[in-house]
Amino acid sequence: MIHIVECCMCKKMTKANLILRNSNICADCEKKIIGTKTHHKDYLKYKEGIKRLICYSYKGK
Ligand SMILES: [Zn+2]
Repeated sequence: MIHIVECCMCKKMTKANLILRNSNICADCEKKIIGTKTHHKDYLKYKEGIKRLICYSYKGK
C-alpha cells in the first residue's frame, strides 16, 4: 500500500518515504539533508525544519 503524504520540508505531496513522528520527509529532501554539509547555507534551514517537526509532535501529545 502506497501512502501519498505531504513532505514536511518542501510541502510537496509525495509517497511516504521517511516517516518521522508521523510526518513525512520525501526522498529528495532526505537526500538533500544527508548531502548538505554543515557549512552549507541550506544546512540550517533543514536542521530547523527537522527541529520544528520534532517540537510540534511533542507539543501535540
Ligand atoms: Zn520534500
